[in-house]
Amino acid sequence: MATYDYDVLVLGAGSGGLSVAEKAAAYGKKTAVIEAGPIGGTCVHVGCVPKKIMWFAADIAHRLHDAAGYGFDVTLQGLDWAALVQRRQDYIAGITQWYDGYLRDLHIDVVRGVGRFVDAHTLEVAGRRVSGREIFICVGGEPITPDIPGAQLGMTSDGFFALTQAPKKAAVVGGGYIGVELAGVLNALGAEVHLILRHAHVLNNFDPLIAETVTEGLRNDGVHIHHWPAVSELSALGDALTLRGVADNAIFDINKLIWAVGRRPRTASLNLQAAGLTATALGYIETDDMQNTCVPHIYALGDVTGRAALTPVAIAAGRRLADRLYGGQTKRHLDYRLIPTVVFAHPPVGTVGLTEPQARAQFGETVKIYSSRFTPMYHAPTAAKRPVAIKLIVVGNDEKVVGCHIVGMGADEMLQGFAVAMRMCATKRDFDDTVAIHPSIAEELVTLR
Ligand code: NDP
Repeated sequence: MATYDYDVLVLGAGSGGLSVAEKAAAYGKKTAVIEAGPIGGTCVHVGCVPKKIMWFAADIAHRLHDAAGYGFDVTLQGLDWAALVQRRQDYIAGITQWYDGYLRDLHIDVVRGVGRFVDAHTLEVAGRRVSGREIFICVGGEPITPDIPGAQLGMTSDGFFALTQAPKKAAVVGGGYIGVELAGVLNALGAEVHLILRHAHVLNNFDPLIAETVTEGLRNDGVHIHHWPAVSELSALGDALTLRGVADNAIFDINKLIWAVGRRPRTASLNLQAAGLTATALGYIETDDMQNTCVPHIYALGDVTGRAALTPVAIAAGRRLADRLYGGQTKRHLDYRLIPTVVFAHPPVGTVGLTEPQARAQFGETVKIYSSRFTPMYHAPTAAKRPVAIKLIVVGNDEKVVGCHIVGMGADEMLQGFAVAMRMCATKRDFDDTVAIHPSIAEELVTLR
């Protein structure tokens, strides 16, 4: 029988890679992770973690403004952005340090460098060859920069997290998760923000109630929303950037421009063909429901597969895969349906299940919608009024809940429990039979008429 350096060789020490490595090691497998960047990957260093700290800061900024309505005499002296970033990075440094001990305790080796397949069991990493009986591709993705003149003058979300001072005037191109989240943070923290969209609304793939409510909310909070068919050029005069669009549109004197136009998988340098693997036209590695690739001992999970690019999805897929391969749980795999997800807007968005268009396409006439829109009690005394919008989508005579969409304070924390209920096939009757918590926003979900 062939021998290998490791039983389990994981490419990428982000959320997905670490979860599979941790489980494999716990099952007694000799394990290594290959990583060129910091341990923890996108989520810890340039994603969820620093974003959530910035979102908290932005949320505090909104509440400081709201405080006057509650009678507080609050004189705002501005924000020390550098101090905020320093404390954020100190927190992240603590996580990274914790990872070092955690990997050491589990006897997981870290091979430093970018991995490139030499054959189906071997990778070359920084001039050294390392082999594995089973290989897991968990290399994640990276932000895209559009192919237009001057694009390099802008930055991506990675650059946003490297900012050590607040920009006075910022432009954000793209209205997906990242565009919405960063535009909201920059706006709340005092920048003049211009958000460039190519469609009428942000969050186009979400339920229309969410897309419309969040777009309107950004506008009401002072974000300048521009609808351009396409951007055409970014240029600089000294420190001032000019963004131009194909329909003769332009925005001048921008201090920082952030491209938030999507992400791509980091597969270009992997030399996949040497392992007998192929990528899709967009560079993703296709897997089946069990995370198998077309090569029997090679698996892929997380953003590199192009399915639900979310940290908890990668973690769940990795853990289940290790349980299946090494824990004797032969059918264990991640069910990609009913994945709850939150967009950290102001207020946040929580969504799980089908959108209304998806439900109507799938279930036709049997779809019924329950929805509500109101100003929450919190805003009774405040000048700013950020609405709550909720929608439940149910199907059939038993009114099974197939979609739950919430925009409003606390949606981020509220959604998790409703996602559990939907996984358990909750019906509208189950929601109605649950006693409300009063006064709260969440109670509206169990009292919809
Ligand atoms: P998304 O796919 O969410 O959004 C990309 C946006 O860019 C869309 O609004 C799209 O517009 C727009 N766009 C694309 N090309 C252009 C262009 N040339 N000009 C103008 N707009 C353009 O990608 P993100 O980069 O925002 O996020 C990547 C992924 O990361 C997300 O899908 C999500 O899975 C994950 N993520 C999750 C977060 C969370 O859980 N809270 C936070 C951040 C990221 P259009 O709608 O017109 O096509």
